[in-house]
Amino acid sequence: MAEFDTDLFVIGGGSGGVRAARIAAGHGARVTIAEEYRFGGTCVIRGCVPKKLMVYASHIHQDIRDAAGFGWTIPEAHFDWQTLIANKDQEIARLEAIYAANVEKSGARIVKARAVFEDPHTLRLSTGETVRAKYVLIATGGAPNHGEMIPGIEHVISSNEVFHLPVLPKRILIQGGGYIALEFACIFAGLGCDVTVVYRGDNILRGFDEDVRTHVRTEMERAGITILTGCTVAKVEKLGDEFTSHLSSGSSVASDQVMFAIGRHPNVANLGLEKAGLAMNPDNGGIAVNEFCQTSVPHIYAIGDVTHRMNLTPVAIREGHAFADTVFGKRPVQVDYTDIPTAVFSQPEVGTVGLTESQARALYPRVDIYKADFRPLKATLSGSKVRTLMKLIVDGDSDRVLGCHIVGPEAGELVQVIAIAVKMKATKADFDATMALHPTAAEELVTMR
Ligand code: FAD
Ligand code: NDP
Repeated sequence: MAEFDTDLFVIGGGSGGVRAARIAAGHGARVTIAEEYRFGGTCVIRGCVPKKLMVYASHIHQDIRDAAGFGWTIPEAHFDWQTLIANKDQEIARLEAIYAANVEKSGARIVKARAVFEDPHTLRLSTGETVRAKYVLIATGGAPNHGEMIPGIEHVISSNEVFHLPVLPKRILIQGGGYIALEFACIFAGLGCDVTVVYRGDNILRGFDEDVRTHVRTEMERAGITILTGCTVAKVEKLGDEFTSHLSSGSSVASDQVMFAIGRHPNVANLGLEKAGLAMNPDNGGIAVNEFCQTSVPHIYAIGDVTHRMNLTPVAIREGHAFADTVFGKRPVQVDYTDIPTAVFSQPEVGTVGLTESQARALYPRVDIYKADFRPLKATLSGSKVRTLMKLIVDGDSDRVLGCHIVGPEAGELVQVIAIAVKMKATKADFDATMALHPTAAEELVTMR
C-alpha cells in the first residue's frame, strides 16, 4: 500500500487553491482539493466579481444623469434590485461551474467537504473520510471581522451578506474606511440610497497617498455620501425595520441596514493547526511562511489570505502557481511583492502602484511630485463637477517613477498598464518621451511638467 493517498492535498478551492491544484496536477502530481462551500472562493462567490458587477450597475445611474448634457432624453429610469441580484447570482453560478470543471480537467480529485488536520500528514474530511498526503497546501482564505461585541452586533451585516439582501435599503450605514466600506458606500449611493460612512480615524483610506485620500473623500461627499470621521458605532438598536446606530461621538444615525467592513482575519479557526504543529505569524495572526510560502512544517505550505500579507486575488493566484512550480515543477519560484498595483472600486475609482509621496520621502533624499487635478472632458457637457487626480512620484536623483496614483474613471485599468512601466523602472524622461494620445485623460501622465 502506498504511504500516501495523494501527493498534494489542497485545503480551499478559492483563487489560490484552485491555481495551485491545477498547476501541480499539470506537473504530474496526484492532487486532491477540498472545498467546504463553493468553488471560486471569496473572489468569485462573494468578493471581487459580484462586487464589480454591482459597481457597473451603480455606475449606470451616473451615466444616465450625464446623458442629458449630450442631448439624450431618457424617460425616468427605474432600478430593480432583485433583477440585479438574480442576474449576478446566475453569473456567479456559471463561473463557479467553470472553476470546478477546470480543476476536474486538470486531473485533480475534488472533494466537496471541509478538511481539517488530524496530524501533519492526515486530513479528516467532514464526510468522515481521512486522506494521507505527502504535501499539504493551506489556502483557506479569510473572513470578515465583526469587531467588538457591541450591543446589537447581531443586527450588523458584513460583505458576506450584502450580496444577498432581499431588498435595496433606502438608507445604509457602513462602518470602515477601507476598500470594502468605500466600494459599497459608492455602490449604494449610485443606486440611490442614502449612505453614511462611519470611520474611526481622521480620514478614509489610511495607507494610501494623502492627496488620494483627500480627493476621494471630497468626491464621495460631493456625491452625497455622509462621512463621519473620528467615531465608531457603539450600539445598534432595532425598532421594527429601522436600525439606530449610536456613535461614540454621542450622535446617532437611523438606517434600514447597518454594515461593518472593518477588515478581515485569516481562516485558521478549528483547522487543527495545532495538530499539524504550525507556527503562526505573531505580527498579523496569519500562518507564518517563508519566501516560498513554506510553513514551519516543511511539507506544509500556505498561500493567499490565510497568510494575511497582501490580501488580493492576483497575489493568491501567483503564490499558488509559484508553490506548484517550486514543489512539483522542480523550479523554485519566489513571488515578487514589489510594485503590486491595486484599485479601490469606489466612484470615482482609485488606482495606485508603487510608493506614496510620504513613503518616497522617507526613503529618498530628493523626491519630485507631478500632479494634475482637472475636470475631465466628459464633465464639460454632462455638467458633472467631478474632478480627476493624477499624481506621479519621482526619485529626484535617478528620475525613476516610484509611484503613480490616479483617482478618476477607469483608474484601475490605467494603473494596470502604468504598473508595467513602473515595474520596468521607467524614468520620468521615459514618460515624457512617450507621445500623448489625445484626447484622453491618461495623456496627462506624459505631459505633466
Ligand atoms: P479564498 O478565495 O477566500 O478561498 C478560500 C476557500 O477555502 C473558500 O472557498 C473557503 O470556503 C474554503 N475553505 C476554508 N476553510 C476550509 C476548510 N477547512 N476545508 C475546505 N475548504 C475550506 N481582491 C482583488 O484583488 N480585487 C478585488 O476587487 C477584490 N474585491 C474584494 C471584495 C470583497 C467584498 C472581498 C471580501 C474581497 C475582495 N478581494 C479583492 C480580496 C480577494 O477576494 C481575496 O484576496 C482572495 O479571494 C484570496 O484568495 P484565497 O485563495 O487566499 O482565499
Ligand atoms: P481594510 O483593511 O481595507 O479596511 C478596514 C477598515 O476598517 C479600515 O478603515 C480600518 O481603520 C477600519 N477598522 C478596522 N478595525 C476596526 C474596528 N475595530 N472598529 C472600527 N473600524 C475598524 O479592510 P476591508 O474589510 O475593507 O477589506 C479587507 C481586504 O480585502 C482589503 O484590505 C483588501 O486586501 C481586500 N479587498 C480588496 C479589494 C480590491 O482590491 N479592490 C476590494 C475589497 C477588499 P484603520 O484604517 O484606522 O485601521
